[in-house]
Amino acid sequence: MTIRNGLIILILPLLCFLLPLAAGAKGVTGTDLTTTNNLSRSRIQVCKVNVKDAASKRTVSQRIGDSKSAAGQTLGDAIGSSGPPQALVTDLRYWSNPDYTRIVITLDREVTFTPHKLRCDNQVSLPERIYIDFAGARIAPGVKDVSIGDGLLKSARVGQYRPDVVRVVLDIENIRDYKIFPLSDPFRIVIDVKGERKTEISRLEDTIQAPRSEPVPAKEPVRFERENTGNKFKPAKIRRIVVDPGHGGHDPGAMGADGLREKDIVLSIGLKLARQLKEQLGVDVVMTRSTDVFIPLEERTAIANKVNADLFLSIHANASLNKSASGIETYYLNLTKSDKAARVAARENNTSLEKVGLLQNILFDLMANYKINDSARLADNVQKSLHGKLDKKFGGIKNLGVKQGPFYVLVGATMPSILVETAFVSNDHDAELLTDNDYQEATAAGILEGVRGYIKELH
Ligand SMILES: [Zn+2]
Repeated sequence: MTIRNGLIILILPLLCFLLPLAAGAKGVTGTDLTTTNNLSRSRIQVCKVNVKDAASKRTVSQRIGDSKSAAGQTLGDAIGSSGPPQALVTDLRYWSNPDYTRIVITLDREVTFTPHKLRCDNQVSLPERIYIDFAGARIAPGVKDVSIGDGLLKSARVGQYRPDVVRVVLDIENIRDYKIFPLSDPFRIVIDVKGERKTEISRLEDTIQAPRSEPVPAKEPVRFERENTGNKFKPAKIRRIVVDPGHGGHDPGAMGADGLREKDIVLSIGLKLARQLKEQLGVDVVMTRSTDVFIPLEERTAIANKVNADLFLSIHANASLNKSASGIETYYLNLTKSDKAARVAARENNTSLEKVGLLQNILFDLMANYKINDSARLADNVQKSLHGKLDKKFGGIKNLGVKQGPFYVLVGATMPSILVETAFVSNDHDAELLTDNDYQEATAAGILEGVRGYIKELH
């Protein structure tokens, strides 16, 4: 400890950019987040987050990491050269949405993290701020502070607070509440911040996307522009639809026999759906991906919010350990008590059942502005017409119905949004259908008819 403290005393004056971060640590005048931040402790595994609720305050205990996994790295181990290799903070991004701002901090492996909230400190002119410490981590080259200025947050700053601790500080302008949630593969922390903006978000259009600090595949949404559709059906209220083929890139999704991959099936169906929606409904269609690239879950809804989409359709294929399981089901975002739905959500969230439970704990707050009734109606229309069309054409298709579940890809969507499980890649008969071009076209047509039915109900 003495050696480390001595190092910090030597390093701090030399690295002036660390001073605001250091001042932040001194300026603790009150915390909404109770955390274990004592470096003398050998293990930091649990952080307790006091979450503000509209009606009352309640405490959510987040168990972060797993002592049996790489995440079980201890602070004691991380300090000193003999410890395991340090994690790298590889990316710091944000999205400003009408209802909230989302910050995502990505690392190359799972680490323990401890969030804190500090009130403003007038003595050293520091605003109210949230900071998160990442134990056993260093900053990758190119990761820089970002200026946000969207009415909720002023900026997000990243610094090497100690040789083995990265600190990310969010300078608050005016927020009411925030939620923190970890996601896997790559490991990342998502912070959704809510509040009343004094500035109209539409005026901030140019600053919505923070520059990426790491080279990544091109991720610009592919837009199918509306054509002159003559006398074709013209919806009054639905002008732009986001089609979201699940998974992609290093994430194959569910795997079936003979190398069948969910990511390929749903991309093929998604492209057909995009074309049909454009041609038959005359709407703009934006795809979250139109090639085999990885798009993080939290970015998919961010794309939909950014382009002001009116509907969000996430396309997936199901899987089960029970090889006889087959059929079609459609989900919308909500808490669930069903083990089956929780398992589907765990798979689609790329996480464990335990973390689905954690998401359920904070989901109620994350869903404050979610269009739950509209999403349920959309899911109902799509499920009915999709099953009806496929059963009529192919026969023997099981209708598993409309269900609710904690799907992270739908969290933060500000428009009606659903997740369609088209069929089971784990079932031999379903898998054969899923690879059939006619079945894929009919699946796209069934979803389109459901969207059409939903739009008609709006009139
Ligand atoms: Zn999926």
